[in-house]
Formats: sequence, structure tokens, C-alpha cells
Amino acid sequence: MAAITREILTHYLDDALSEAETSQVEQALRQSESLRRLLRVVMQERDRGEHSLGAIWRRERLSCPSREQLGSYLLRAVDDDLLDYIEFHLRTIGCPFCQANLADLQTLQQEPAPQTQTRRRKFFESSAGYLHIGREGKSTGR
Ligand SMILES: [Zn+2]
Repeated sequence: MAAITREILTHYLDDALSEAETSQVEQALRQSESLRRLLRVVMQERDRGEHSLGAIWRRERLSCPSREQLGSYLLRAVDDDLLDYIEFHLRTIGCPFCQANLADLQTLQQEPAPQTQTRRRKFFESSAGYLHIGREGKSTGR
């Protein structure tokens, strides 16, 4: 693909690109700070006349991972695809909502004292004999 223009970024935000083009744009975004800056400018321009930033984010294809998914991400309990997506969303796109959400979750997760961890481990040890514990059951539901 030739240089990624403002127009292409707009199509990207509209989800109007083919899958191949989309992944090329995402690849380029990962690599280029100036392109990420341009994306933010384009998004801000589109934001004008909108009711709220939140409305934009919900409508955009750059949909936010759920709080649950962010929690699992912090615990490194997500599959590679989701990990990749969340990192892209947080770092490359720099979603302010998810960054705030993540900071909040981090605070919560730092809380557990060693006691809590021991208790948790005991729970898993005692449950392991009776239950099949795995991450298979739930879909990541993107
Ligand atoms: Zn987000």
C-alpha cells in the first residue's frame, strides 16, 4: 500500500476498508508515531458535532474491550489475539476510557495481601479435584 493518507484513515475509522487494507493500516499505525498522531487528529475532527466522545467510541470499529477483558489482561489470562487487540487499543489507539478503566483495575488488583493469595490458591487446590477448571468454557466474546 502506498502512503497512508488522511482519507484512508477516515475509511479505516468507518470500517470501509478490506480486511487486508485494515491490517496494513494497523501495521502502519504500530510502526509510525506520526501516523498515530494523524489518526488522533482525524478522530478529533470527526468528533466535532458529536454529542460525546463516548458516543464516538461506541460507534467506531475501535470498540472497547469489556472491563472483564481488561481485568483478564492485567492477569495475563487472555489469549494472544485478545492480548494483541487490547494492547493495540490501549497503546496504539490510546483509548482514554480504557486507560482510565485499566488504572482503576490495577489499583484494585494491587490490593490483595499475601493472605488473599494463599486463600485463593487453597481454593483452587481444593476445587481442582472436583471441578474442571479451564479457560475453555467461555468465549472471549469480541
Ligand atoms: Zn477503549
